Amino acid sequence: MTTNFYAPPSAIRASRVVLPEEEARHLRTVLRGGEGDKMTVVDGDGGWYRARIDHVGPDQVVGTITEQRENVGEPTIDVTVCLGILKKRSRFETFVEKAVELGARRIVPLRTRRTERESIRDERLRNVMVAAMKQCRRSYLPALAAPQSIGSLLTEEAEEMRLVCHAGEKSVPVQQAVTDTRPATSALVLVGPEGGFTPSEVEAAVEAAATPVSLGARRLRAETAGLAVLQSVVGAHPGEVEAAPRPHGQNG
Ligand code: SAH
Repeated sequence: MTTNFYAPPSAIRASRVVLPEEEARHLRTVLRGGEGDKMTVVDGDGGWYRARIDHVGPDQVVGTITEQRENVGEPTIDVTVCLGILKKRSRFETFVEKAVELGARRIVPLRTRRTERESIRDERLRNVMVAAMKQCRRSYLPALAAPQSIGSLLTEEAEEMRLVCHAGEKSVPVQQAVTDTRPATSALVLVGPEGGFTPSEVEAAVEAAATPVSLGARRLRAETAGLAVLQSVVGAHPGEVEAAPRPHGQNG
């Protein structure tokens, strides 16, 4: 089976893994997995396991772990992406899915002067995130923060690389900003909502040690900008852990 399954750390004890009900049902009814088959399980906390299926019940699948690795599919930099809450929920949802695929470690929905919506649907977004984590074969389930303001985000001392996406005169190309500060172990990037940041929001970010960065000559939609800056930061920090390649035919 090529799909990864998700089981929280509490479902993994010694060499035994028990898939949660929904995952077990998916394995049995959709993928038609059976005893003796192999599966890959991630725990959303960096744990990655290969397991042999011992038992398939109506709502339960139990396996024995045969191989264990850490941080498979994870970037070497810990990136928090903060994006203004978008008017259209579906656009924010697409952003969240893609941000998981590109390796974000934490997603923060931002409330800014120009955001027109206050809330997100966190349960729905969490489901999207779990599905994306499994699909893209990473092992960490990114955190989804509660909506917050720029002010409350930037209170602590900046040890991380901080970037604020803003198409302004003082902005430097993102590639330059990323190269100048590399190597970093963590980063926080800020992207405005449809209406952009106000000048004072950009100023506040700069005062809190964020570098204003440009993503090129085109004005991008907010969600595109969020993904572009994320990839620029992740891509500049190579060394990701990949699952060991398997001999042909044993990819399951
Ligand atoms: N109406 C706004 C544009 C907002 S685009 C204006 O005219 O300023 C939404 C957000 O995406 C922006 O706040 C910024 O954070 C980011 N963004 C879009 N295109 C960008 C670019 N070329 N460079 C840097 N940031 C960009």
